[in-house]
Amino acid sequence: MPHAALDLNTPTADEVKTTTCYMCACRCGIRVHLKDGRVRYIDGNPKHPVNRGVICAKGSAGIKQHYSPARLSKPLLRTGERGAGEFREIEWDEALALAAQWLGDIRRRNPDELAFFTGRDQSQALTAWWAQQFGTINYAAHGGFCSVNMAAAGMYTFGGSFWEFGEPDWELTKYLMLWGVAEDHDSNPIKLGLGKLKARGAKIVAINPVRTGYGAIADEWVPINPGSDGLLAGAFIHELLRSDRIDLDYLVRYTNAHHLVIRDAGAADDGLIARDAEGHALCASRVEGEGIVLARANAIDISPLVVGECTLADGRKAVPSFQLLAERFLADEYAPESVSARCGVDVATIRRLARELAETAFDQAIS
Ligand code: SF4
Repeated sequence: MPHAALDLNTPTADEVKTTTCYMCACRCGIRVHLKDGRVRYIDGNPKHPVNRGVICAKGSAGIKQHYSPARLSKPLLRTGERGAGEFREIEWDEALALAAQWLGDIRRRNPDELAFFTGRDQSQALTAWWAQQFGTINYAAHGGFCSVNMAAAGMYTFGGSFWEFGEPDWELTKYLMLWGVAEDHDSNPIKLGLGKLKARGAKIVAINPVRTGYGAIADEWVPINPGSDGLLAGAFIHELLRSDRIDLDYLVRYTNAHHLVIRDAGAADDGLIARDAEGHALCASRVEGEGIVLARANAIDISPLVVGECTLADGRKAVPSFQLLAERFLADEYAPESVSARCGVDVATIRRLARELAETAFDQAIS
């Protein structure tokens, strides 16, 4: 029964500002409700294309960025031994004078002695610019250790990336494997994408020791033992190689599968990519009427080999990198029977998942 005295429409604010959340990298659109000049409440902006009104718990907790009692409001100067947790508040003038003295000494001596690292904030362009003006080459930020390397991998493999989340094709994907997705990365745009997949009946498999976060809506949860993900991936590769379910055209086009690797035990360049005099990576290519010849690996008119030993111009032997991968992962140590106990995933499940990946990729081609 409705409560007569309950008025759900009482305005919580006298002003609403629109901006973007930065409690994670998704940058959802948010509305910040202000009353008497103070933030009262944050909700999702229904008009923002990234999240269309959805907000997560982290986003609405953004209010604490401003009002947490733990928030630093003044610089702190350490007064005791490092680690003792003894500090005193100082004024900005004193803090800036101290920093200018410490940094000035380093800059006069050798600016590269400053290693400058910043967290994940929205001002990395500015902090990098500051480091460059200071003169140090030793600067980095959170992203280089976290999301940017994954984003780069996404761009190089499937052609794009939405921060560290990759860029699944939400419209056409038929099978999504969520592998070790961090529990705190409950990105709103990903939730919208997963909703599309669920609505279309795509299969979602979560490989994760715990079933929380996105894994909660997965069709299948594979509770892998912590720390054994690489082994399971190795077993999938083993199965795909063993059953000859490999897209070699893709590998040649987008990876260095055909690049020749020098095999010269004991030499300094053993295991490195073979290159011509100009530094271009080489491959072994089949040419009609000439047989197998050495060619530049990035040329467009080549028919490169991905297995088979060949001889370089200096007489040494080399093999395509794909061959090394195949030799390694076809070994018994990556057979499902070998990894099952350590991964905590039974042999039949490993085989079936590898089969499902291959069936989706090869038998249900998407144009
Ligand atoms: S997913 Fe949550 S924390 Fe991340 S930007 Fe959106 S509302 Fe903020």
